[in-house]
Amino acid sequence: MSIITTYDFSKDQNSHFLRQILRFLTTQKMLPTPVNYALIYEYVSGCNIKLRVAIDLLLKQGKTFDKELSIKLYNKYISNNSLESFDKVNQELEVLITNTRNIVSETSQKASDAGVVFEEQAATVSSIQTSSDLKKVITEIATEATGLANISQSLKKELDSANEEMDMLRAELIKVRESASTDALTGLLNRGAFDKALNNLIEQADTNEACLLMLDLDHFKKVNDTHGHLIGDSVLKFTGNLLKKHSQPQHFSARYGGEELAIIMPQTSIKEAAKIAEQIRIALENSRLKKRNSSESIGKITVSIGISHLKKNDVMEDLIMRADKALYQAKETGRNKVVIE
Ligand code: GH3
Ligand code: MG
Ligand code: MG
Repeated sequence: MSIITTYDFSKDQNSHFLRQILRFLTTQKMLPTPVNYALIYEYVSGCNIKLRVAIDLLLKQGKTFDKELSIKLYNKYISNNSLESFDKVNQELEVLITNTRNIVSETSQKASDAGVVFEEQAATVSSIQTSSDLKKVITEIATEATGLANISQSLKKELDSANEEMDMLRAELIKVRESASTDALTGLLNRGAFDKALNNLIEQADTNEACLLMLDLDHFKKVNDTHGHLIGDSVLKFTGNLLKKHSQPQHFSARYGGEELAIIMPQTSIKEAAKIAEQIRIALENSRLKKRNSSESIGKITVSIGISHLKKNDVMEDLIMRADKALYQAKETGRNKVVIE
């Protein structure tokens, strides 16, 4: 469970929080990094009580919020190892920072415009020899406006770099998430992602048809024994590519485990599923696989396939069990064939 509440505050509330965040960051001399934003956002919005108590205590003790402390707080009270939550925070913060950046940019423009106007007026005033008091006042205003513009500019720069950092984190996150759901050898979904996809299929089961294919390479032990494990791996990889090639965009191809592969097929009739299964079976049977750097053939590689069809009130295990049973039948009755439950 994540302790992160979603940041679904209104835009007005958010800009209010933002002013508080900026004030907090400035007084505590904290940099506007994503981690600091997340921390102080949760602090000022009051959506994370435990964090609030912890920060209040640290403030009381006069602690310096350096990078190390920020990360410690972040890990303890926010990240909670949930990629989803982290992504959510990132997205929300990016919107927040973009909004601030725009506001700051507008303010800065206005301020520098005002600076020019004041300076022009000051020049005019001096040329017509008005009282030196008035001249002084106007010059002061002009200086102040220019100063304001400079402050805004530097804040804008800091926000820009925070945005860049956020982009990098996002890219990294996408990579982490992808590699966390992919099987390294075949590039198919791994078992965890397979379970998730199948669960989604069952939860969202509507009137649409859906099927599950379970595939198991025939006599694969013999392939390994004869040609070695590395060749076995290549065969597995090759078969994985056949799954990708013959399945449809809405399908999920996965490595179920070992040399067992699977395809989850939403919005697919038994007839279509059987057709795809047959295409894969024939394609593998007809592939004359050879060892790299030698003309030695690996011999005929075949696969057995079982198909189940989603029924009302099915749970995940029902669908898997029936596909497995069909697969077992395919093995029992000679292998290199497709059996429908
Ligand atoms: P059949 O399925 O036709 O009944 O025979 P089989 O020999 O394929 O069946 P079994 O399940 O007994 O053996 C599966 C073999 O697959 C055993 C294991 O060494 C091999 N295997 C599982 N995972 C991998 C892998 O990642 N790479 C390689 N090279 N072999 C694997
Ligand atoms: Mg097996
Ligand atoms: Mg096998």
